[in-house]
Amino acid sequence: DSSSAAAKSEVQGEKKPADEDDKDDKAAQSLLNKLIRSNLVSNTNQVEVLQKDPNSPLYSVKSFEELRLKPQLLNGVYGMGFNRPSKIQETALPMMLAEPPQNLIAQSQSGTGKTAAFVLAMLSHVEPNNKYPQCLCVSPTYELALQTGKVIEQMGKQYEEVKLVYAIRGNKLPRGTKLHEQIVIGTPGTMLDWCSKFKFIDPKKIKVFVLDEADVMIATQGHQDQSIRIQRMLPENCQMLLFSATFEETVWNFAQRIVPEPNIIKLKREEETLDTIKQYYVLCNSREEKFQALCNIYGAITIAQAMVFCHTRKTAGWLAGELSREGHQVALLSGEMQVEQRAAVIDRFRNGKEKVLVTTNVCARGIDVEQVSVVINFDLPVDRDGNPDNETYLHRIGRTGRFGKRGLAINMVDSKSSMNILIRIQDHFSKNIEKLDTDDLDEIE
Ligand code: ADP
Repeated sequence: DSSSAAAKSEVQGEKKPADEDDKDDKAAQSLLNKLIRSNLVSNTNQVEVLQKDPNSPLYSVKSFEELRLKPQLLNGVYGMGFNRPSKIQETALPMMLAEPPQNLIAQSQSGTGKTAAFVLAMLSHVEPNNKYPQCLCVSPTYELALQTGKVIEQMGKQYEEVKLVYAIRGNKLPRGTKLHEQIVIGTPGTMLDWCSKFKFIDPKKIKVFVLDEADVMIATQGHQDQSIRIQRMLPENCQMLLFSATFEETVWNFAQRIVPEPNIIKLKREEETLDTIKQYYVLCNSREEKFQALCNIYGAITIAQAMVFCHTRKTAGWLAGELSREGHQVALLSGEMQVEQRAAVIDRFRNGKEKVLVTTNVCARGIDVEQVSVVINFDLPVDRDGNPDNETYLHRIGRTGRFGKRGLAINMVDSKSSMNILIRIQDHFSKNIEKLDTDDLDEIE
C-alpha cells in the first residue's frame, strides 16, 4: 500500500540518525562556500572525461554562443557576468544540451561552475508552454535548495514564462493540487511525497532529473533511499544528472544507481604546495609573548591581509579582543556563529573591510579565502591525539602562495611540545622552517 510506504518514509525523514552531525557539518560547509562564493575557483588541472560511448566525438565549447541557447538564456548568462564557460562547463554543457539528452555524473570541487551548468541545462530543456513540472532538482537541505533556486531565478530572469516551486517540508499544498511550475526544486523526502503520496507532480512527464551535492546527500541514509525511489518513477528517456564535490567509493556507488549509462566528468582539485611559501617560526614562552610577537610582526612589515589560526574558540576570542584593543581591524570567525553570520564575516574580510581574520581551524575548514598574504599559526595544528595535523597545515598555509604569489607563513612556538610538532611538520614536508627573531624583522620583507 503506497500511502503507508510514504508514511514510513516521512518517519524516516524525521528521525535523526547518528551521522546527522556529520551531515549537518557537510551541509553547513557547503552552504558557507555558496554564500561566500563570488566567482569561479581557479583550477589549472585538465578535466578527465569518460564517455558512455567512447567512439562518439567529444564536443567542448569555448563560448556560450556555440551552445545555440535561446536568446533569453544567453542574455541571462551574460547578465550574470559570465563571459565564457568554466573548465567543467566546456565539456559538461555540450553533453547536457545534446539531443538526445545524455546522462552525466560530474565531480569537481565547489566553486567550479556545476550549479550554473545544470541550471542552464534545466532552463534549456523546459518547454515553457507546458504548464506542468518538467525538471526536478533535489538538494540535501532546504538552505542549499534555496541557493540553487536563486541561481535559477537569476539565470532565468528574462525567461518569465518559466516558473519555479520549492518542494520543502514547510511548503504545504492543498490535496489535489496539480503543479503548473515547470521546475521543482527541493529535498528528497518532500519531493518523493509530492510525486507519489500527494501526486502534485506527474513523474512520468519529467525530462530532467538533477541530484545535487551527492556527497552531502548520502550522509543521510533516508535521503539516499528517497532519491532512488524518485528516480525509479521517472520515464526511461529522462535525463539524469548527478553532481558531487568529492568522490569516495560510497558516492560513486550511489551515483551509479541514480544515473544509468553515464558520461563522467572529473576535475581534480588544485594541488596545494609549500613550494612558493616562505615558512618561519617564532620562539615564545607564553600566550602573551605570542601576542607581542604578532604585534611586532605587524609593526615591521606591510601585511595586506592575514589569517590567524588558534586551537580553541577561547584563544581566538581572547586574541581578537587584544588585537582590536591595539587598534587593528579584526574579524573573528567562531564556532557558535550561524552559517549566515560566518559568511558575512568572511565576506567583509574578503572585501578588505578587516585586515586580520582570527579563526579556529574547525571554523575555517573547507573555506577558501585566497588573497591572504600572511598566515599565522598562533597555535600549530594538531589532531585529537596531539599529533601534527600535516594536512591542515598544508591547507592553511597553501592559501597564501596561490597564483604565482609568494606567501608567508609564521608559526608561533611556545613549548617543548609545540617545537616538537613543528619539527615533525618540517620533516613531513621536507621544507625548511626558519627561525625568526621578532626583534629583528628585516629579513622577512
Ligand atoms: P559549484 O556548483 O561547482 O559550486 P557554481 O556554479 O556555484 O559552482 O559557480 C561558482 C561561482 O562562479 C558562482 O559565483 C557562479 O556565479 C560563478 N560562475 C559559474 N559559472 C561561471 C562562468 N562560466 N563564468 C564566470 N563565473 C561563473
